[in-house]
Amino acid sequence: MSVVTKCIGAAKKVKHRFEAQIKANTPVYVSPVRRIERVKTAKRVVAMTFDDGPCQMLPNPQGTHEKGLTMTLADTLERYGARGTFDVVGSTAGNYPDEPGKEGSASWGGKRYDHYPDFGRDSQGGAEVCREEIDRLLSGGHEITSHTYAHVLYGWKPLVYGRRHYLGDIEKAVADLEKLHTLLRERHGYAISLSRPPHYVDRIGPGLSSYDALALMGYQYMAASFDGAGWLPLSSYEAEVEATWRPLERALAADPDSLCGQIIFQKDGFNMARRTPIADGLEIQLKLLAGAGYRVVTVSELMELSPFADLGEGDDAFPAARKLVKSGYCPAYRDNTVRPEAVMTVGELCETAFGWEAAKARVERVLQKAGPWPCGLAAAHPYGAAVELAMERGCLPKTEKADPNAPATGETLAAFCKALYGKAPETPENLTRGAVLKLLAASL
Ligand SMILES: [Zn+2]
Repeated sequence: MSVVTKCIGAAKKVKHRFEAQIKANTPVYVSPVRRIERVKTAKRVVAMTFDDGPCQMLPNPQGTHEKGLTMTLADTLERYGARGTFDVVGSTAGNYPDEPGKEGSASWGGKRYDHYPDFGRDSQGGAEVCREEIDRLLSGGHEITSHTYAHVLYGWKPLVYGRRHYLGDIEKAVADLEKLHTLLRERHGYAISLSRPPHYVDRIGPGLSSYDALALMGYQYMAASFDGAGWLPLSSYEAEVEATWRPLERALAADPDSLCGQIIFQKDGFNMARRTPIADGLEIQLKLLAGAGYRVVTVSELMELSPFADLGEGDDAFPAARKLVKSGYCPAYRDNTVRPEAVMTVGELCETAFGWEAAKARVERVLQKAGPWPCGLAAAHPYGAAVELAMERGCLPKTEKADPNAPATGETLAAFCKALYGKAPETPENLTRGAVLKLLAASL
């Protein structure tokens, strides 16, 4: 294992150790785009995502598989009645000039860019050339999601990817997403609804991130909660295959329900050692999951069952929050929690009702460098555009000093609903987020 790989592993461990602390100290906002890591459900359902394909190259050149990697994975999944989520790229053929990086390092497939399936082999991967593979995946009931067209980083990522070319521009990021979206729609009649940014790099530039680009596309952010480890180069192929299923076996032995609602991260491509342990590991993973009574579904099916991380079937506010999501509202935070017991603030109320519409206005204002909104909030404030829209629509009284953190009172909510739906509901004394979401859902 190279030094860089060891460093990535060590950094991941440190991040994991302090994750709870980092999360507790990071402000979180209501958002149209939610980061879907796992969802709350008591059912034994799980999803698997496969990044960086489709791939026509044979798994492990010296191996025994007869079909290309993507076809091999599809066949294996279907033998177990499983449906995968293939997080595809369009093409990396435009990512030149470039030089191949060192095998076993993070730049294995290119120094300035990523190349899939490998450096110099861009013509054997990506949705642009793998028409047959995409058709095959769709006819097998699998889901296609967007890992962007060219797999170029959205923003600068020092340390591991410091030498990489990056877009650094939301218009370029959206154009790239649209290119893949159009390809799938026009050639395959398929509508993408989820996306995972390359290498999870989110910051695009000042005040703008991947969440803004995804909001403009109407997508949700697809993350994952369980590492399938296929990307990890180890001393031998056998060790890499074992790394794909051993943690799963351990997790199921410790608690057979521990995988409920989780999203397992996998690769439809080669790892840094130019091997594809998933081609042999997947079968063992699926056997383990089937043995524990799990169904492997697509991420969209998982979200249909339960869209949120902290609310599931049987929870009081669940039907209202789900109805609102389906009706184009934004009842959850960016981390996909609804937090029904928390106090609903004025900014959150506005974002809940106008989040999708506001996303576009917010991006435009940040790009124009137009200064604060008339309501006094900064152009890049997460709720600035939504508060402004709420005032324009008569849902909030106009002011130049809006306070998005003030709790929404019964009076605020009554006026808000009167302007939005033409009638004011009876408001309870205790306006928790759950209570407000139920009132909004009942008004629809
Ligand atoms: Zn990737």
